[in-house]
Amino acid sequence: MVASRDLKAGDIIFKDEALVIGPKTITEPVCLGCYKRVDGSYRCRVCEWPMCGPACEKSPDHQPECVVGREIGSPIDIQNFDEPNHFYELVFPMRCLALKKKSPKKYEQLLALESHYEDRKGTYVFKENQRRVVHMLRNYFFLQEFSAEDVDSSEKSIHTITGIIDVNALEIRLPESEILGLYPVFAMLEHSCTPNTKHTFNASRQVIVKAAVDIKRGEHLSTMYTHVLWGTIARRDHLKHSKYFMCTCFRCADPTELGTHFSALRCKSCDHGFVLSAAPLDELADWICTSCNATMTAEKVKNINLKLGEEIENVIAMPTVEKLEELVNRLAKTTVHPNHFHLFVARHTLLQLYGRDPNSTGEDSMKKKEKLCQDFLKVCTALDPGMARLAPYAGVALYEYHLAVLSRTRQDPSEKHVDQSALRKDVETAKALLQQCIRVLQDEPKDQPEGALCQVAQENLAELRQWEATLYS
Ligand SMILES: [Zn+2]
Ligand SMILES: [Zn+2]
Ligand SMILES: [Zn+2]
Ligand SMILES: [Zn+2]
Repeated sequence: MVASRDLKAGDIIFKDEALVIGPKTITEPVCLGCYKRVDGSYRCRVCEWPMCGPACEKSPDHQPECVVGREIGSPIDIQNFDEPNHFYELVFPMRCLALKKKSPKKYEQLLALESHYEDRKGTYVFKENQRRVVHMLRNYFFLQEFSAEDVDSSEKSIHTITGIIDVNALEIRLPESEILGLYPVFAMLEHSCTPNTKHTFNASRQVIVKAAVDIKRGEHLSTMYTHVLWGTIARRDHLKHSKYFMCTCFRCADPTELGTHFSALRCKSCDHGFVLSAAPLDELADWICTSCNATMTAEKVKNINLKLGEEIENVIAMPTVEKLEELVNRLAKTTVHPNHFHLFVARHTLLQLYGRDPNSTGEDSMKKKEKLCQDFLKVCTALDPGMARLAPYAGVALYEYHLAVLSRTRQDPSEKHVDQSALRKDVETAKALLQQCIRVLQDEPKDQPEGALCQVAQENLAELRQWEATLYS
């Protein structure tokens, strides 16, 4: 799909209606009408799926599995409401299959989406699907009892549909759960690890696709089907196994990942070089030091990353400023580039803890906070200039950065020793950071923490302006 006109960042490119909406494959029990969590105290009187009440029983979303329940009546065995339940992975495929009768045109659109049936055949995923979905739908819910005119319950059709879901479904975050939607136009967007579009959902669950950066007429429109915070090896591996292609985008092809050194390791043979993949589009290629040319096998790099992941996870589980500082400083000196993806979340946690952790409220800590926010934001901007994916991270960093700057203005401005021009400058910087924070977070859902932070930033900006007016009067 290419841009049919010049687009400015923020322009809406298209809106798309979902063919099917439903619960995620792995989910704790949710109401199949409104997708809020359920506790089992109410069940649909027709089909016995747990619901939140009579109103949701009648929800159009819920009718496909409700009809199956009414016709067949196999028990929906859900007892534990705090853990994911395997019955839910059957709901989305049932809803897809029900389209054939309900809306043949939408069913046709659905089947036109990529399923990678042949690529998946014989794989672990395929075998698991056979056992968990195909077998269950045919031998527990007896879908073949329905006429083939109404429901296409052949094994191949069910596999095709699970393939279509895995390859194309978008995650929609709701306050209490995450659900999936299949969007036929959105599915035509190609992938890039530096996507030029971003998307949000409106109340009627349409997906709204906007330009994340300025886009020239004729340029390819792209979205991202993997995780922006993973290094190249992990992203390409994920795309290979979930979307069945090897990404060759310019971030993947660049060993420095757009100058960030997001996957770079410290060289053990010299004390100042960084080790990068010699050929990032070949996952088996050796890695080589930029300074002394020492090499490392891809296998070795993988093992180092595995170990690092575990070590960092342990610290992040119970973070303190002291522990995080020690970890980040030590690893950045001995093992990885300071911008390495493994340190990203640790640094993001650390920049929030400065000033909040009781042992880190001094001037010194606020200076470190400011510097860390600056460095962190540089990486965000390089990896994702349009903030298509990193808006939540960048928004928090901008907000924290403004707090660090404002901490300098806390002294009493009437006191003689306060440098008025420095104070003015800090207030201006803090205002600019809040404005940037608001801009970055403006599309985030209001019912999510990032949307709430956007609201807080707006209030803080108004207060700051009021305070500023009293300062110079
Ligand atoms: Zn409900
Ligand atoms: Zn029902
Ligand atoms: Zn890529
Ligand atoms: Zn070296």
